[in-house]
Amino acid sequence: MATKASKRVLVFDTTLRDGEQSPGASMNLTEKLEVARALELLGVDVIEGGFPITSNDDFEAVRAISREVRKPAVCGLARCVTKDIDRAAEAVREARHGRIHVFLATSKIHRETKLHKTQDEILRMAVESVRHARAAIKDVQFSAEDAGRTEPEFLAEVVEAVIDAGASTVNIPETVGWTMPDELRRLIEYLFEHVPNIGRATIAVHCHNDLGMAVASTLAAVQAGARQVEVTINGIGERAGNASLEEVVMVLDTRPELFGGCTTGIRTERLLPTSRLVSRVTGLVVARNKPVVGENAFAHESGIHADGVLKNAATYEIMAPKAVGLARNKLVLGKHSGRHQFRQRLKELGFRLKDKAVDALFFGPFKELADRKKEVFDEDIAALVESEAVTAPEVWRLCRLTVATATGGMASATVELENLKEKKTERAAATGDGPVDAIFRAMEQMTGVSLKLADYTIRAVTAGTEAQGEARIEAAAGKKTVSARGVSTDILEASARAYLGAINRVLAMRQ
Ligand SMILES: [Zn+2]
Repeated sequence: MATKASKRVLVFDTTLRDGEQSPGASMNLTEKLEVARALELLGVDVIEGGFPITSNDDFEAVRAISREVRKPAVCGLARCVTKDIDRAAEAVREARHGRIHVFLATSKIHRETKLHKTQDEILRMAVESVRHARAAIKDVQFSAEDAGRTEPEFLAEVVEAVIDAGASTVNIPETVGWTMPDELRRLIEYLFEHVPNIGRATIAVHCHNDLGMAVASTLAAVQAGARQVEVTINGIGERAGNASLEEVVMVLDTRPELFGGCTTGIRTERLLPTSRLVSRVTGLVVARNKPVVGENAFAHESGIHADGVLKNAATYEIMAPKAVGLARNKLVLGKHSGRHQFRQRLKELGFRLKDKAVDALFFGPFKELADRKKEVFDEDIAALVESEAVTAPEVWRLCRLTVATATGGMASATVELENLKEKKTERAAATGDGPVDAIFRAMEQMTGVSLKLADYTIRAVTAGTEAQGEARIEAAAGKKTVSARGVSTDILEASARAYLGAINRVLAMRQ
């Protein structure tokens, strides 16, 4: 527990629950586990793994995370409904430290139009649910959904009652992004003044970004005494998203004097690798100008700025790039680098891989890349690891690709794929509206999977004409949306790899 007097702000990460609710961000079990491991390494205090009653996938994800992570508490979400709470309890049962998070809307508009309940009924449901959860587990969190638009007097009553019923964390969510930072600060202050037993619980905040206030409001609440911040990596979440973990953490890290010296347990140098991982598995690209983790966050374009930074970085940099895990384009490895050097570099970049995986990367994709590209940068290595990390069981693998194009004419592609299940190689040729289209059509013929492309982007991983290109694809297969990425020094090959990744995902989902 962290009361107002505590100097430690607990970080409650909901990337896997609220974050996963953002359109197009769904993750499979393997990916969720990968993210959960990264969150543990990052040092978050609580991982909200999902909403177990909503689907079997969510239930399994919370259960698998409970078995896997050791340090953070693992939390499952539940409505104030017995069957939700029982399911959440079951999902976190094997966690070293499990938590049930029950929520109920308290605002007038939610009470009257969504729930059709009076204040008394809401109060009773909240108390009964917290009690029911407490019978199953010691650590129970209650959230007053839409607290920002709830009458302060009624909110105070609810908070007092759920603490009495046994909630050790009470969250004041700004569910719809309505409240301004100063209003939320005053609301939290009001609760500290009017709830007699408030010292027996950690007060949390959970802010949405509809008006761009999520981070500011979260921090204002910390100033008022909230000691748990509910955040997501890259700020992903419902609609405009949630308060972003990396921004909240770096504000506390950069300006501690404004927050009574409050700190978090986050290892800030893991911020960038974690951001990249979440971006990769969700397919949600981080804006270049995103604070802390955007590509341009530490880029100085103007001559005056660049000159100032060379003379003294503090002239234009309020955070050290290294502090958030950014290693600047450093030349690290080449064709003649050994396996030991490669392993060492991976470690320094924060990747924890088994020896077998390191060898597979080194003798395969790394050697290949070093042959094609004289200089291999940190970003290249990160891209390699990330693209090789198996996110869906592979059914098809790319063997060869031949493409012919002519300006003004059709393009043709011949693609050779290996079917790993049946252990045979197949080949198909197709024409298309350009080389990428031709490649995709040839793959469709062989795999029988037809995708509707929703988004397709290509970007360079590092600068220069020898740079690796990264292709990202978001595609619809029936009602499901899948995303995948591919990396290569050849952008057509990168595109082919991304498309094939999406096909493999669809096949994995069908099983
Ligand atoms: Zn939310």
